[in-house]
Amino acid sequence: MSGIDYRAARALLRLADVLELIGYRPTAQLGQQLRGPCPLHGSGSPRSRVFAAHLGKNVYHCFRCAASGNALDLWAALTRQPLYAAVLELCERLGRPVPWLGAGPTGELPMNDP
Ligand SMILES: [Zn+2]
Repeated sequence: MSGIDYRAARALLRLADVLELIGYRPTAQLGQQLRGPCPLHGSGSPRSRVFAAHLGKNVYHCFRCAASGNALDLWAALTRQPLYAAVLELCERLGRPVPWLGAGPTGELPMNDP
C-alpha cells in the first residue's frame, strides 16, 4: 500500500470542496469565514452558528462539540473512516488525482525498477 502525501492532499482538497460536497448551508458568511450549524454533531437548529469554518485557512472548529481540523479531518469525521480511506474517497468524489508519496511534480507515479 502506497503512502499518501498528506501535505499535498491538504493543499489539494479544500474545506470549500467538502462543504459543497455535503451541501452545507451556512447561516452567516463574512469574507472567507462561515458560521452555521455543525455537520458533525448535528446541532438542532438550522440557524445555529456553533460551527465556524475559514475557507482561506482551510480549517474548521465547532464551539459545541469541539471538533476541529482541516478539510481531510472533516471528511474523515463525516464519513467515519480513517484519514487514509477518507483522502482516497474525497479525491474520487472530487475527481482529483490522489497525491501519492514519491510522485513526481507532474503527479505521475515513479517508474518501477525490476
Ligand atoms: Zn459540533
